[in-house]
Amino acid sequence: MSDSMLIDPFGRKIDYLRISVTDRCDFRCTYCMDEDATFLPRRDILSLEEIVQVATSFVALGTRKIRITGGEPLVRKDILWALEQIAALPGLEELTITTNGSQLEKMGQQLFDAGVSRINVSLDTLKRERFEELTRRDKLDQVLRGIETVCALPFKQLKLNAVILGGHNDDEIEDLVEYALTHKMDISFIEEMPLGQISHHDRAKVYISSDELRDRLGKRWQLSASERSTGGPSRYFDIAGESQQIGFISPHSHNFCSTCNRVRLTAEGRLLMCLGNEHSKDLKAVMRAHPENVELLKQTIIDSLVLKPEKHHFNLEEEPQILRFMSATGG
Ligand code: SAM
Ligand code: SF4
Repeated sequence: MSDSMLIDPFGRKIDYLRISVTDRCDFRCTYCMDEDATFLPRRDILSLEEIVQVATSFVALGTRKIRITGGEPLVRKDILWALEQIAALPGLEELTITTNGSQLEKMGQQLFDAGVSRINVSLDTLKRERFEELTRRDKLDQVLRGIETVCALPFKQLKLNAVILGGHNDDEIEDLVEYALTHKMDISFIEEMPLGQISHHDRAKVYISSDELRDRLGKRWQLSASERSTGGPSRYFDIAGESQQIGFISPHSHNFCSTCNRVRLTAEGRLLMCLGNEHSKDLKAVMRAHPENVELLKQTIIDSLVLKPEKHHFNLEEEPQILRFMSATGG
């Protein structure tokens, strides 16, 4: 049970923090960023020490789970140091990461040793040419070797995340589930979210609902709704005869705001209350003006929760109101 001291005006207990440690990435997924994406200047990005300071404050306030994401978190220099510090915080139950998998072959063992307990690996296709089209990088084999590396280690859970774009990779959902089951991994299918305007990419045209995916998968596997809930936009299904689960992350078709238990720290140190709104608090400004004042940081975090909106508003028919990209806020 969580004893979080962070409770928002709608009575929701916030015990889950997602931290984007960089907006940079070694891939250029078409739905996430342009090939010539511009990145924040280094001085605007939180230092690893500042990230650890925010994590420490959150854990002291009752946060039990932290997910490290990006951009690509594993391309950030010295990230293992920060992971070790965060994993060792007394009271933290879970340190998890979301990664594109490119560094896992090299870093899998170190991640385990640092105290990471779960890894989500993003994998949208098993076809080499399509992988290169989607990520603009020819790195499928490297990612697959990375997955083999972490599968051989005793992580608590490994999961695949696949963004499904209609007419692009929806023909692979069955193959992706087969791959996940063979590797004893769970798998989540993600609906694309309208975050940021990307050239040559019409989001409404490629939208495919989670319900449609589930109906299709239901023809091949016997799926039943699972009790498991993460407080987020994921719904999980048990697969008859298997110990793995299939999840659907669907911000459009299912509203999950009433159980939202999370906030996000952006790479530039903004505490973001909701993925679909701009409400935020600049924690970097507080830390840089008062570097030693831990109590002030904690109080700022507590006070900022009044900004958490009741729900988000995504609409594919309209121009995105959210001009941030997922890479800057952490997916
Ligand atoms: N680079 C890492 C990775 O790809 O896993 C971590 C960051 S990435 C932003 C986190 C997740 O967000 C990935 O699974 C990615 O596919 C997903 N993502 C990125 N842009 C998205 C969008 N517009 N809609 C839905 N998911 C998106
Ligand atoms: Fe990089 Fe992840 Fe965005 Fe792909 S989804 S460009 S891997 S941050």
